[in-house]
Amino acid sequence: MRFLILSDIHSNLSALQAVLADADGQYDRIVCLGDIVGYGAEPNEVTAWVRQHVDSIVRGNHDKASSGDPCLQDFNPAAAAAAAWTRQVLEPTNLEYVRNLPPGPRDAGGFCLSHGSPRDEDEYIVTRQDAIELQRELPSEICFFGHTHIQVGFGLRPGRAWLLVPPPYHQQERVYELEPDACYLLNPGSVGQPRDADPRAAYAIFDHPAKLLRLRRTPYDILTTQQRILEAGLPPVLAERLSLGR
Ligand code: ZN
Repeated sequence: MRFLILSDIHSNLSALQAVLADADGQYDRIVCLGDIVGYGAEPNEVTAWVRQHVDSIVRGNHDKASSGDPCLQDFNPAAAAAAAWTRQVLEPTNLEYVRNLPPGPRDAGGFCLSHGSPRDEDEYIVTRQDAIELQRELPSEICFFGHTHIQVGFGLRPGRAWLLVPPPYHQQERVYELEPDACYLLNPGSVGQPRDADPRAAYAIFDHPAKLLRLRRTPYDILTTQQRILEAGLPPVLAERLSLGR
């Protein structure tokens, strides 16, 4: 079974459409690691698509904040403004869907999904040390996570971790055959707001139980996304950062 792994779409319809076109015909099911809304200007379009097409999903912190959970105190002013705006414009059925998204971790058929870390949906996994510290608490051998907007993987054996790096800017894909007796924490990167200095939309395709991971990047129409953010009256910094991948 080939899974299309999406995370942190953040109301960016152009990026989502580019990923779907790029991955067309290469997957059987779609899973999502949360933060479908927040930051971007197309929350209804993205939520309607997710409702219809995603097979398994967990909620992210922006999904919570944009649908009524009072966790805005952790947000910077631009993120908080976008969350408040999103809550206002989400149509009732979409708002209800976002509000009822389940927390992670969640099993997706032999591997787990979480937004932050498997032990805390709001925890960031950034360094190899972060990954090592989680090793004993993983609910399954392979866990996908998002939240950092950084495409990366950590391979884990007792007491040590190694990196699975994303494709460099001139390449579209890095392929990894996962080792049978190791654990993995895998981040497909962010579809709608990459922060690893590569502005291309990030995602992954995971073939399981073959354990074949493909970390992929695809360019998208950043200008259109930026225009929509500005037209919506959202903070301009949310548009500007997209061209930088920061
Ligand atoms: Zn996010």
